[in-house]
Amino acid sequence: MHDTRSRELMDEIIDLKKQNNVFLLAHYYQRPEIQMIADYVGDSYAMALAARNCSQSTILVAGVDFMAETAAVLCPDKTILTPEPLATCPMANSVNIEDILKYRQEHPDAVIVSYVNTPAEVKAVSDVCCTSSNAARIVAQFAPDKQVLFVPDQHLGNYIAEKLGRHMEVYYSECPTHQRVTVEQLDQLKEQYPEAAILVHPECRKEIRDRADYIGSTSGIIDYAEKSNHQVLIIVTESGIMHSISEKCPNKKAILASQELICPNMKSITLEKIYHSIVNNETIVEVSEDTRIKSVAALEKMIEWASRDIA
Ligand code: SF4
Repeated sequence: MHDTRSRELMDEIIDLKKQNNVFLLAHYYQRPEIQMIADYVGDSYAMALAARNCSQSTILVAGVDFMAETAAVLCPDKTILTPEPLATCPMANSVNIEDILKYRQEHPDAVIVSYVNTPAEVKAVSDVCCTSSNAARIVAQFAPDKQVLFVPDQHLGNYIAEKLGRHMEVYYSECPTHQRVTVEQLDQLKEQYPEAAILVHPECRKEIRDRADYIGSTSGIIDYAEKSNHQVLIIVTESGIMHSISEKCPNKKAILASQELICPNMKSITLEKIYHSIVNNETIVEVSEDTRIKSVAALEKMIEWASRDIA
């Protein structure tokens, strides 16, 4: 339910988008009222593709800074706006570029695969990027004996290594939001709803992933929720996903595994901030041309490799 002022703001933003030729691009972790008026809602990979393919001259990114930066890198001819420049990702910010450069120097034959949850400077020194929806597909395209450093999410990296049955070195970072669910919470819910399927994002740690019936990206989780025969679903990822799940499968019972699964950065974006961002054409996201040219190669390689037919 949205109050009258929120409804008015939503209508005003819809009009403003048209008047100003703005494409509102939102992540599944955004507030429901933002997802409802977005031109496109998706995970990081789908957002990157949607940014590249949209026809509008301005893209307003309702997501954290690395998502807006990705749009700026992929769409140099468009204006990229963020409604909240302080919306950031602690995991992305944890990467020390010096560590990556040192690794590169010490392991000249290794490849660096960086999750999109990284600053553009890290993408610029990576061989290829990936998202949680295509990480396995990307890594699988390197020869099994190729040395790989996966940056920065240790849990996603370890999950991909397990899934592909190969060794990978992983950077030691994690998403604080996805660590907020406990094994006890999950076990208690499973006891209460034994028929439920547990759907887990790979940014969760192993003891949580080990309890999953399905592990996948946000779009993968939504897809599984919609298509599986399970009528009760325990969802282990950020709370914003519940909006899309309730829209896609209104007759199923979907339970968020913990009320703590809230990313404060994602939720720092509000309708008011989006309204002001469009009206004032701020805050414009810029990436230096040197970094852009270096980082676009890793992003474009991800897009190309993710769509390849692999055996
Ligand atoms: S949910 Fe985690 S990975 Fe995503 S933006 Fe928030 S802190 Fe970063």
